Amino acid sequence: MLYNHLEKQDSELFASILKEEKRQENELELIASENYASPAVMEAMATVLANKYSEGYPGKRYYGGNYVIDEIETLAIERAKKLFEAEHVNVQPLSGSPANAAVYMAFLNPGDKVLGLKLDHGGHLSHGHSVNFSGRLYNFVQYGVDEKTGLIDMEEVRRIALAEKPKMIVAGFSAYSREIDWQGFKDIADEIGAYTFADIAHIAGLIAGKQLKNPVPIFDVVSTTTHKTLRGPRGAIIMCKEKFAKQVNSAVFPGMQGGPHNNMTAAKAVAFGEALKPEFEEYSKQTILNAQAMAQEFLNRGYKVVSGGTDNHLFVLDLSPKGMVGKEAEKVLEKIGISVSRSTIPNDPNPPMNPSGIRVGTPAMTTRGMKEEEAKLVATYMDEAFVNREDEIKLEELKGKIKELCSRFKIPS
Ligand SMILES: *Cc1c(COP(=O)(O)O)cnc(C)c1O
Repeated sequence: MLYNHLEKQDSELFASILKEEKRQENELELIASENYASPAVMEAMATVLANKYSEGYPGKRYYGGNYVIDEIETLAIERAKKLFEAEHVNVQPLSGSPANAAVYMAFLNPGDKVLGLKLDHGGHLSHGHSVNFSGRLYNFVQYGVDEKTGLIDMEEVRRIALAEKPKMIVAGFSAYSREIDWQGFKDIADEIGAYTFADIAHIAGLIAGKQLKNPVPIFDVVSTTTHKTLRGPRGAIIMCKEKFAKQVNSAVFPGMQGGPHNNMTAAKAVAFGEALKPEFEEYSKQTILNAQAMAQEFLNRGYKVVSGGTDNHLFVLDLSPKGMVGKEAEKVLEKIGISVSRSTIPNDPNPPMNPSGIRVGTPAMTTRGMKEEEAKLVATYMDEAFVNREDEIKLEELKGKIKELCSRFKIPS
């Protein structure tokens, strides 16, 4: 990218930015929650829109001079509605966790009971973990995945729901590789009169790209980040039924946040515009094909994949059959220029800081244009790195191969 002013004015910071740009260019990103936003999205972020205060909503602001911002926010809302078939959208949440805080605030009182997926079974911190605001403010009870199949156990969800009578049921994950039975969750919630909340942070792009089922038409409220598979700027949105619009808006502002980040709202509008194009369907499809090809290659090489495969953009690799743990794998891969995140496996015998697996995701490599052939090749390199983890010369050689691969598949710029 061009940074005329930064380069002249602040060489110290500029050097770090260039270094990071180079790192991203030369290394392979397999962190399932990361992606490369398009140059148009990046441009929208670096605009004068960042200068403006716009507390409130289009047509109802607490500051003057917002008639242009109203236009931009309305455009973002209309595009998101179309993309996800949503009745109401709030595009102001600053990120996924604050969006979830606003959802809970809109529907619950502190101390209310909520049912969510366990963190070590693939859930997110903001779904009731004890160190997170969600676990401290609300009374979370948790469901998990079936020990044998690695799939969310809908029988268990129902059993816990009927016994505990939560006010809200949360479906969604950060590390789960199978389709979610949205209708199954909805049916269980209806039996006990609970609200349904889907957090589609990870899979929003695959839903927008029509590859996975969309919970928005059937759930009460849905949140998503915009920077993961959706490939937009860092941020989030909340979608809900029209009857909940007012309480959701009030929870975001003035409940949780002050002024929205208008530059990010504009960048969200750009990203939604991109996701509405037919090319985005191709991208989403390819992202899944790549994840499936890579998971299969690991299975062929004797690794264990939680749930045995994937329906989406990620999978969790259980490294225990190879006598490794997640942190070690993460370190070895960093040496060869691949980023992954360590991950717990269901009922992990190891502690969360050093869990038994890694989470591998294909959204970023697919944005670079890589296909199944490259996905398999990358799995091969990763396996070679694990097998030769003490061999610095071999690791150096693999680092060169990754760099070469990255030079053939550039980040769109
Ligand atoms: C990433 C994620 C979030 C949080 O998003 P941030 O923008 O990092 O706050 C929330 N929920 C789920 C399921 C996620 O995967």
